Amino acid sequence: MSYTGKLFRTRHIYDLSKTDDLFASSVRETCSFCYNNCSDYRRILDEAGFSPEKINTIDDLADLPFIPTLYFKHHTLTSVPDRKLIIKATSSGTSGTMSRIGFDLKSLMTGSHMVINVGKYHKLWSIKPTNYIIFGYQPTKTNKTAFSKTAYGFTFFAPARSRTFALEMTDSGYKLNWDRVLKAMEKCSKSRCPMRTIGFPAYTYFLLKDMKAKGIRYKMPKGSLITMGGGWKQFYTEQPDKKEFYRLVKEVLDIDEDHIIEFFGAVEHPILYTDCRCHHFHVPAYGRVIIRDPDTLKPVKNGTIGLVNLISPMVRSTPVVSVMTDDLGVLHDEGCPCGAKSPWLEIIGRVGVADIVTCAAGGEEYLKEGS
Ligand SMILES: [Zn+2]
Repeated sequence: MSYTGKLFRTRHIYDLSKTDDLFASSVRETCSFCYNNCSDYRRILDEAGFSPEKINTIDDLADLPFIPTLYFKHHTLTSVPDRKLIIKATSSGTSGTMSRIGFDLKSLMTGSHMVINVGKYHKLWSIKPTNYIIFGYQPTKTNKTAFSKTAYGFTFFAPARSRTFALEMTDSGYKLNWDRVLKAMEKCSKSRCPMRTIGFPAYTYFLLKDMKAKGIRYKMPKGSLITMGGGWKQFYTEQPDKKEFYRLVKEVLDIDEDHIIEFFGAVEHPILYTDCRCHHFHVPAYGRVIIRDPDTLKPVKNGTIGLVNLISPMVRSTPVVSVMTDDLGVLHDEGCPCGAKSPWLEIIGRVGVADIVTCAAGGEEYLKEGS
């Protein structure tokens, strides 16, 4: 079995020291594959004077050239023939430009082990039929955003009794259908089956605020979950305090804080970061995070804010093995009461558009300069 195959089957999902060596070998494996099969990637590494063979230990990952996520918005890089790409996902681009990332069967199979393991750890799997309410787009043949695919994928953790989409495809495009969602919520509250919501935190929050303002209160069946992913994006400034959000969920839907789960991930780094009961995004065994100084791009110590560099060997069909996001974040390693040993990632915000361009340019410069 490949190193990557082994890594994604590990049971030690939040004890990184147990998989550091395997992770390094796995990154070398994926990096070599992309280097040998994607001429653009090979050029990027060659220009940086970097060879995949240089990755021997976990510490070597800091030297692996990263590609800014912005780069994928302007260049399509693949390391397998187009016909082998089963899913071509695009980021939910708020700015109009989208990254196009292709996944081949092998990469998807690798990812499926992660989904199984993470789902087990966080008790997301259930055999109870569940009513899903999705604050997102109804999937269609033309809708390729990673969010709509991921959201739909989440409706398989427990068998779907029903699926209600907040954004419906109509003759005139997508339309938000709050009334339908509210009706579905009411139905859910009377059902014996648990409800699960899936969606951007902002949509979830706006709906709950609207329900509260209208005086609507439901007591959702036991086992109901609020799951959220995709971050706050353009609603960043409207983000409530987490505690306030949890209070709102309890007040309107009678769902406890420990049944509110948030996910973090990106189309360029499709690793499932799931918040623990203390609402921390621990780094799972399938990825590593390096926080870098925005000016020098050198790794900084845990606890220091910087640019978030995400590394994972999961995808081999597109060279996203090390990507630089436009997020500012910090890694915490002060120990979490939940018992997970790995550090947790806190996203502090996004760098401004001008900064992103600078960062991307800086990143490309960095690639050219060599390590
Ligand atoms: Zn924790």
